[in-house]
Amino acid sequence: MRIAFARVSDQPIAIEAALDGAKLTATLSKRNGFVLLDGALTGSLRLSCVVCDQEYDADLDEPVRLLINDGIYDRKNTDDEPDEPIVEMSGEIDLDEILAGEIAAFLCDYHRCESCQNSEDEREWQV
Ligand SMILES: [Zn+2]
Repeated sequence: MRIAFARVSDQPIAIEAALDGAKLTATLSKRNGFVLLDGALTGSLRLSCVVCDQEYDADLDEPVRLLINDGIYDRKNTDDEPDEPIVEMSGEIDLDEILAGEIAAFLCDYHRCESCQNSEDEREWQV
């Protein structure tokens, strides 16, 4: 799904994108010259556990909040740098690309399957 920057106004637009079982549900609205994407990553993803290497399905429920800039963002005024991460796109907002980026960032995190999490919790209890 792609949305032209020109279509986004102060009135939030609801958007949705899906990829590999993960789903992005959010609203787009204008804010300080950017487009604010505010929503959540839901659904599920296949992860591999960093401890036992077993693959498992993880439910997602991650808030997603980022700013999208039409074109290259000029970073010379660093004092005004917003807290949210800034994504640069040209002319159109490519929601599939944003979702793919969010999934890639999520997969980079440290993930353990449920049984490894439980056995680690037990070990903590025994100390
Ligand atoms: Zn594991």
